[in-house]
Amino acid sequence: MMDYEKIKSGVRLLLEGIGEDVNREGLLETPERIARMCAEIYGGLYEDPAVHLKKQFTVECNDMVVEKDITFYSTCEHHLLPFYGKAHIGYLPNGKVAGLSKLARTVDVFARRPQIQEKMTAQIAKALQEGLKPQGVIVMLEAEHTCMTMRGIKKPGSKTVTLVTTGVFQDNTELQNRFLTLVLKS
Ligand code: ZN
Repeated sequence: MMDYEKIKSGVRLLLEGIGEDVNREGLLETPERIARMCAEIYGGLYEDPAVHLKKQFTVECNDMVVEKDITFYSTCEHHLLPFYGKAHIGYLPNGKVAGLSKLARTVDVFARRPQIQEKMTAQIAKALQEGLKPQGVIVMLEAEHTCMTMRGIKKPGSKTVTLVTTGVFQDNTELQNRFLTLVLKS
């Protein structure tokens, strides 16, 4: 599990490193606050997505299921700054579907870790492919990276889009287009 004492001394060192006075009033409780925050924003490291996808329902119709606009907040592992946006998930069932809230839970398990967007997209697709064994999965993430907007090249509003497909979605542009049409229309 997480080592809160290590997090607290790390935060103290960081503050000292930037030349701050760790004993001034505003900063006194910051190490403790950040340690507690880490339990939440990095809690996905200690969660198994398979748990959320265990509960399944049988369906007769294997038409495409799409859950779009799932808001997520994650942390870029290169700068430890937030990146946030929306996840869109589609899959073609193979007789089984997951509860809709479980798709959002799966996104959260991977968002709540130090991450890069490309890896997160692939991890969600893999978890759904393994958990539901559908005919195929398509996952699209669009996010704004604060490491690109509040520092570095400073391009506010720019979005990074990533897309991962498995199974029947891999080389079927017609299926991909059906998904994208559903996702892009408001
Ligand atoms: Zn970054």
